[in-house]
Amino acid sequence: MAKKNYYNVIIVGGGISGTALLYTLAKYTDVKDIALFEKYDEVATLNSSAKGNSQTLHCGDIETNYTLEKAKITNRTATMVENYGKLYGYDNKYMFQIPKMALGVGDKEVKFIKDRYKEFKKEFPYMELWDKKQLAKIEPALLKGRKKSEDITAMGTKKRWSAVDFGKISKSFVKNAKKENKNIDVHLSKEVDHIEKKGDKFKVIVEGKAYYSDYVVVDAGAHSLLLAHKMGHGKDYSCLPVGGSFYYSKIDSLKSKVYTIQNPKLPFAAIHGDPDIVKDNIVRFGPTAIVLPKLERYHHAHFLDFLETLAPSTEVIEVFYDLMHDSDIREYAIKNFLYEVPGIRRKLFAKEVRKIVPSMTKDDIEFAEGVGGLRPQVIDKKTKKLFLGEAKITTGEGIVFNMTPSPGATSCLGNAQEDAILICKFLGNKFKAKKFDRELVTPIPY
Ligand SMILES: Cc1cc2nc3c(=O)[nH]c(=O)nc-3n(C[C@H](O)[C@H](O)[C@H](O)COP(=O)(O)OP(=O)(O)OC[C@H]3O[C@@H](n4cnc5c(N)ncnc54)[C@H](O)[C@@H]3O)c2cc1C
Repeated sequence: MAKKNYYNVIIVGGGISGTALLYTLAKYTDVKDIALFEKYDEVATLNSSAKGNSQTLHCGDIETNYTLEKAKITNRTATMVENYGKLYGYDNKYMFQIPKMALGVGDKEVKFIKDRYKEFKKEFPYMELWDKKQLAKIEPALLKGRKKSEDITAMGTKKRWSAVDFGKISKSFVKNAKKENKNIDVHLSKEVDHIEKKGDKFKVIVEGKAYYSDYVVVDAGAHSLLLAHKMGHGKDYSCLPVGGSFYYSKIDSLKSKVYTIQNPKLPFAAIHGDPDIVKDNIVRFGPTAIVLPKLERYHHAHFLDFLETLAPSTEVIEVFYDLMHDSDIREYAIKNFLYEVPGIRRKLFAKEVRKIVPSMTKDDIEFAEGVGGLRPQVIDKKTKKLFLGEAKITTGEGIVFNMTPSPGATSCLGNAQEDAILICKFLGNKFKAKKFDRELVTPIPY
């Protein structure tokens, strides 16, 4: 059927956020005409692809930079992805029960893990506390080559859906949305250049052609803030693109997702090691964290777009100054920069890996070329702070912009629910809350 040029809702961006919204609108609302525009020839080729991110369903149980409050929020949205997977039989196909843990190394971190275990036990009753002896059985590589005097402890679980191929889930959202009795057009290889408000509609220009809609949601990763700024929205926000690289090891060292302890001042989860779920016999270590002057990791530079979204100002400089004033963050930034420098990076990163697998040498790892995406970390100029996680610009005029660093893939259905409710309220449509809660929100017992 020929594609049209007017829709109730236009979604810009076909990563996991845009496709999750397409699915949610199709299945849980009575919105009829929906279009999604994606600039590449497939959905989920950037941050949402399996090689763009850490493949972790972030429940908040092993992410040591989350407070209990933040963990409760991510736990709720992680459950939605889990329930979605089970609803369509994607368990053991696109999502996997890999054991997972947060590892403390040395007396200070061991105490930290023990205290955190006590605090988090109520929200995550399935978590176990594993001492050195238990870890030697569960994950022997953590002990091999470790100094006898060095204590380790982990909080973890062996039986949860912890690893997800978010790229495959994105594709499934499109497939399952199209099964609903709605008019859905997915326009691939179509880049949205410009959006403007025209009376009570939006005019969306795509490669010279105009499309119209009553509502627009921009789920375009680091490009979301660029499109917002161009329309005069979100001027209090600035975007700092933080790239993350991985290292591969062919040594079959880990069977679990092993997260280390993160500095709570940093807005993303710490370096971890885990088996890659889409590449056989590869264990990945990472991601690193490096600020890059571009909006996409492996495509052309977008330097001017980067400047537009960074929108340098005295407030942004103050945020940088405050971050770099902190010696821990300064050291972290320098180290992570060096992890990208050919010639020295393997040797330096191997030290990081040895915290997890002490027997690893630089010859056991290789820099994973072309792997790892970009986290659009948002700076709030008013509070002069970096956001922990996602940010949303809700204009109240029928257009929303989402910026989605980690754990944005885990929160895809939670964000989609919020946007679907906003859309229905604005357009006078119905959000099928009971069905959504029954199918996606209520945890299914293990
Ligand atoms: C190294 C790293 C590790 C991570 N690990 C995890 C993890 O383990 N768990 C987790 O939950 N999250 C993780 N994340 C975060 C997660 O990957 C992102 O939050 C998520 O993929 C964002 O999805 P998105 O759809 O919002 O954006 P994207 O996946 O970036 O998709 C945006 C889409 O918009 C398209 N687009 C952009 N501009 C336009 C335009 N003008 N017109 C049309 N289309 C456009 C792009 O082509 C792209 O397809 C990680 C991120 C990184 C970088």
